[in-house]
Amino acid sequence: MDCIFCKIVNGDIPAYKVYENDKVLGFLDISQTTKGHTLLIPKKHVANLYELSSEDASEIFSVVPMVANALKKAFKPIGLNLVNNTEKPLQTVNHFHIHLLPRYSSDSLQIGFANYADSLTKEDYLEVTDAIVSAIKKT
Ligand code: 5GP
Ligand code: ZN
Repeated sequence: MDCIFCKIVNGDIPAYKVYENDKVLGFLDISQTTKGHTLLIPKKHVANLYELSSEDASEIFSVVPMVANALKKAFKPIGLNLVNNTEKPLQTVNHFHIHLLPRYSSDSLQIGFANYADSLTKEDYLEVTDAIVSAIKKT
């Protein structure tokens, strides 16, 4: 399979590995959007979040706090973002990964959330809630 991250797992292409266990690999994102920008991936090829089993999710998320704390210790960022891009065009590598992005006061990233609460009614919230709850019931 022509997957860059599987090639990293298999050692076919190099990576700056920071953590590894039986199921999970952590390595530097080549872009280094911020200092220490790290990717965590399942060693098994899983295309994206929608394809991740609960077991795969448990394996990978169980190491997130440890790696986050290591980044905190190593670089003393002001904070950290966890980011996952799911499906094209957001997702550019089709092997599930979590970005750990240490944040610095000097970085120019704009990762924030707009707040539309003032323009929403209780009915709006209920409609959205019902849509999600009924979708969960069908899973
Ligand atoms: P996405 O946009 O899919 O969430 O992020 C994919 C990430 O993979 C990008 O941040 C990109 O810099 C990183 N990336 C792409 N190719 C390679 C590679 O060959 N090695 C490493 N270490 N990172 C890569
Ligand atoms: Zn893969």
